[in-house]
Amino acid sequence: MNIILLAPPAAGKGTQAEILMNTYNLNHISTGDLLRKASQEESAFGRELKQIMESGNLVSDDIVLEVLNRYLDQTTNFNLLLDGFPRNIYQAKTLDKILEKKSQKIDYVFLLNVEKEILLNRIVGRRLCKSCGAIYNVGIDPLKPKVDSICDKCGNPLIARKDDNEKTFQIRYQEYETQTKPLIQYYQNQGVLYEIDSSISKEETFKQIELILKKDSQTDYKN
Ligand SMILES: [Zn+2]
Repeated sequence: MNIILLAPPAAGKGTQAEILMNTYNLNHISTGDLLRKASQEESAFGRELKQIMESGNLVSDDIVLEVLNRYLDQTTNFNLLLDGFPRNIYQAKTLDKILEKKSQKIDYVFLLNVEKEILLNRIVGRRLCKSCGAIYNVGIDPLKPKVDSICDKCGNPLIARKDDNEKTFQIRYQEYETQTKPLIQYYQNQGVLYEIDSSISKEETFKQIELILKKDSQTDYKN
């Protein structure tokens, strides 16, 4: 059972990946981790990759796919959980080819649906406590005074993360719309896309995912 989590920025992909990992025996694939590992290798490829990453240049699709391909050659645990990958149609098509060679395929693509307005509110209103790590949301209600509050748990002031601003969000969302959104149609055509309402809570989101996975495993038992 190979799963992809597809979602716009701040829709709770990381949280759902964590819950899924704690519930099922899945092999969580982080292309970022795979790249870091590969760049440590004592090989021409490893050295080249290290150079690209240290220069701050973007790692090309082909290199990401090559690193993933190498990893999938070694692993025996094909209960893949991919989040944040694939990011575009080219990556998705190549991933399908790689999996096909290993007699594998993508079984579920969960699209975490949240309205853009809600996502923006989540990002802009997100505050965290530097002392204890607690995360809050102050909201961006124009009627509320824009005073940052104090942590309930330890009494220290809350801060906003540098990346949690509207400008960064708009850039990421735009990238999602142009690059990643076409994947919805792509996986719909394969009959593996499941839309999940992810606007309520992480528990509600997971309930919907679990329902789909359970329904299918019952069908499997009957056969
Ligand atoms: Zn605190």
